[in-house]
Amino acid sequence: MEYEFQPHYCACGCGGTGKTKWLPGHDQMLRAAIEREVGGLIELRRIIEELLQRGIDLDHKQNNGRRQLNLDSVVDRYYF
Ligand SMILES: [Zn+2]
Repeated sequence: MEYEFQPHYCACGCGGTGKTKWLPGHDQMLRAAIEREVGGLIELRRIIEELLQRGIDLDHKQNNGRRQLNLDSVVDRYYF
């Protein structure tokens, strides 16, 4: 069976094609552009949490069971 290359359009919308969903670095370019557009990562989080009507769960279990961050207090510090 002969392998047939099926190009994927880059998910950032640049029109480039490659073997994967993103051309190298374009996922980070999109993330940075979105953050810039909304005023930063904290504002992006606020918008998404408002849309979802819940907090975003950071998986702190990957911290080997160390202290978990209380996200409510972080949000309170920045917005209230
Ligand atoms: Zn792209």
